Amino acid sequence: MKVTALAGGIGGARFLLGVKAALPTAEITVIGNTGDDITLHGLRICPDLDTVMYTLGGGISPDRGWGRHHETFTVAEELATYGVGPAWFGLGDRDLATHLVRTQMLAAGYSLTDVTAALCERWKPAVRLLPMSNERVETHVVVETDEGRRAVHFQEWWLRMRAATPAGAILSVGAETALPAPGVLDALAEADVVLLPPSNPVVSIGTILSVPGLREALAHTPAPVVGVSPIIGGAPVRGMADACLTAIGVATTAGAVGAHYGARGASPAGGGILDGWLVDTVDTGTEVPGVTVKARPLLMTDVAATAQIVRAALELAGV
Ligand code: GDP
Ligand code: CA
Repeated sequence: MKVTALAGGIGGARFLLGVKAALPTAEITVIGNTGDDITLHGLRICPDLDTVMYTLGGGISPDRGWGRHHETFTVAEELATYGVGPAWFGLGDRDLATHLVRTQMLAAGYSLTDVTAALCERWKPAVRLLPMSNERVETHVVVETDEGRRAVHFQEWWLRMRAATPAGAILSVGAETALPAPGVLDALAEADVVLLPPSNPVVSIGTILSVPGLREALAHTPAPVVGVSPIIGGAPVRGMADACLTAIGVATTAGAVGAHYGARGASPAGGGILDGWLVDTVDTGTEVPGVTVKARPLLMTDVAATAQIVRAALELAGV
């Protein structure tokens, strides 16, 4: 069976552990969000791709959910003593090696697809991990500050401002001219099932869908498309997805997020992407026009519980 999943960072990566457990022999392709990517100290950093790679490859910090296990932060401390920031972005010493390899390979002319494949040679995540695009697409957030209205990189809004400063708009800079990375459209067209993990609907799934051709490919794939809600009982399970949803005028409920994704074939423009939508049992009774909704426990407390969520998604997809 061929499974294709879109993924952000922590929510996507944890869900993928469940996909691997539920379907040990499946061919799994992951289309990863690169909208969070940032250049710091001259290094290209891809937080969501790395979170997926480290989580599936056994190198993630289980406590933090991002970055490396057994990490030290000597280089970051040394930079701070030079007064060189930003202090709000955690750059561990082990993690730095990944960014050094990536930056070196990009500078030598390799694409992010090639670089990601090379990094995965070490981590062996047992999925094919593809960046959504090889072009630079960056999520920027428009905020009101003392100096007036300005756009900041998503990481600055998320980590420094803790998403507490209301976002006037969330932009996917560079998306209009970006192309899907090699393999991405084929992975959607050739899948037996497409899964949308409970990743952030705006800055993870939304950013992936901002790459021209991606939404259309999802709308037209012969495979069933089933999503899992990251919103349980009117709140994100972790993180500040509510601040992102508010910025785009979507309520923080499982039903509103399902309706925001929309039913496939529902509009003449074909903008919708879902056949099925899994919500938590506390959200039983949620309805999304044109979409089959099922309620199941959706807390990814461990791999076994997550595999149960994946099985429920596959059942809803009818595969
Ligand atoms: P990020 O890039 O690290 O922010 O990760 P993602 O975008 O992939 O996922 C973030 C989303 O995962 C958040 O909006 C959370 O609500 C959601 N999430 C985290 N843990 C769980 C869980 O156990 N169950 C569900 N349903 N969603 C979760
Ligand atoms: Ca992310």
